Amino acid sequence: MPIDATQPYDDANIFAKILRGEIPAKTVYEDDHALAFHDINPQAPQHILVIPRGRYVSWDDFSAHASDAEIAGFVRAVGHVARAAGLVEPGYRLLANTGGDAHQEVPHLHVHIFAGQPLGPMLA
Ligand code: IMP
Repeated sequence: MPIDATQPYDDANIFAKILRGEIPAKTVYEDDHALAFHDINPQAPQHILVIPRGRYVSWDDFSAHASDAEIAGFVRAVGHVARAAGLVEPGYRLLANTGGDAHQEVPHLHVHIFAGQPLGPMLA
């Protein structure tokens, strides 16, 4: 079910459990600011999720309330993950679904990295 991006942070969400090590994930990268792991239901040959370690419901929450250090660390982590996976060429797509109309389902900010095939125009 899509979430309300303005809801308070819920420590029971599945990505919070992954961050706490309570459920497994196929981790590809981690540092002080971010954790990256393979999506459990990939929508492209390469489908990686990158999440901040901080308790942010959505892109809106993160961009409004995270510190400059958290934002810089997270953005750099996303770029690093894509580079390390060799995705800069032929290319990749970033997506951060935010709220109900975008069909955000997990109430912890996550950036999707899609790659591994021509992805077509957005919203096609
Ligand atoms: P959203 O629709 O942008 O919120 O995307 C949530 C994503 O999380 C979906 O692509 C799911 O397949 C993915 N997902 C849900 N649970 C897990 C999990 O336990 N491990 C990895 N990915 C998950």
